[in-house]
Amino acid sequence: NADVAKNRAKLSGPNRYWFFEQQIHDELVRQHQLAERLQYAMRRGELALYYQPQVAARSGRIENLEALIRWFPSEGGVVSPSEFIPVAERSNLIHRIGEWVVREACRQQAQWKAVGLGDYRIDINLSGKQVANLKVFETLETCMQEFQLSPREIGIELTENVLIQADDRVLNVLRRLYHRGMKIAIDDFGTGYSSLSYLKLFPVTALKIDRTFVRDAPHDPSDRAIMAATVFIGHRLGLEVVAEGVENEEQLELVCEMGCDLVQGYYHFKPMSATDTQKLLSGLVTVTTDIRDS
Ligand code: C2E
Ligand code: MG
Ligand code: MG
Ligand code: MG
Repeated sequence: NADVAKNRAKLSGPNRYWFFEQQIHDELVRQHQLAERLQYAMRRGELALYYQPQVAARSGRIENLEALIRWFPSEGGVVSPSEFIPVAERSNLIHRIGEWVVREACRQQAQWKAVGLGDYRIDINLSGKQVANLKVFETLETCMQEFQLSPREIGIELTENVLIQADDRVLNVLRRLYHRGMKIAIDDFGTGYSSLSYLKLFPVTALKIDRTFVRDAPHDPSDRAIMAATVFIGHRLGLEVVAEGVENEEQLELVCEMGCDLVQGYYHFKPMSATDTQKLLSGLVTVTTDIRDS
């Protein structure tokens, strides 16, 4: 039909360059618009933190919560962080978003402590630019003081690529936090460009096996081998090993068999709003109280 013919024409001869230039241009415009909308979104309070529990592999008990940002535009729907975080990274907005995430996670943690929800650590994700800037760590310190939280009550997740780009200043800050008891996880472990020798250098406490390995492990021996090796090396280094993206029983059994300590994924819980998280956790509090009372 006509459209197909037109597209084919675009993709041949000198038009081809025009076509790709046009595509790049369109993408830049889209990103610019997204960045602008995001600025308004922050002012209008359209960002929210969702929480996904991490459970102990053996008992299924909820241990920690990972905070995952969501954007609910006023016109409806939800924008995924994998779409807007990279845009925010390129536009410096990431610093303001990061500050908001840190403050919101600390505020929420303090509120849940105040209503006696038990102690669940909240882990936040930090991206490369945020870490390099160091400001986010100042915010973390300020907020921990302001909301009277200990470094044990807030953890951080960094990808391998963020860690290998970390300079001495960043490493020193991470070491200080580590020595004060903050949990530091390597996110998406196995997908970055780091060599294993980096594990010696970084002050980390946990490895999170990327969900692509977990997804394919039941039918792919290579993925199983990588997972088994990760668990082995993690444990030998005294680190906790977390399996990300566990969606079904088969995957759960496998990661348990392999010795993962913690499990996170849709099989147990999807990321939930603060309200739903609070309902879930307070339900658990009531249950344990009942058991104790009877
Ligand atoms: P991540 O830190 O690796 O987070 C895990 C992602 O996997 C989340 O996607 C989560 O919703 C999803 N997930 C969890 N369990 C399952 C499962 O069983 N199956 C599948 N298919 N997916 C599962 P989400 O929330 O869309 O976040 C995507 C990424 O965006 C995060 O990956 C993280 O890198 C980034 N991100 C999220 N929140 C923040 C934030 O506050 N700050 C920064 N800098 N980055 C964030
Ligand atoms: Mg994460
Ligand atoms: Mg991950
Ligand atoms: Mg990821």
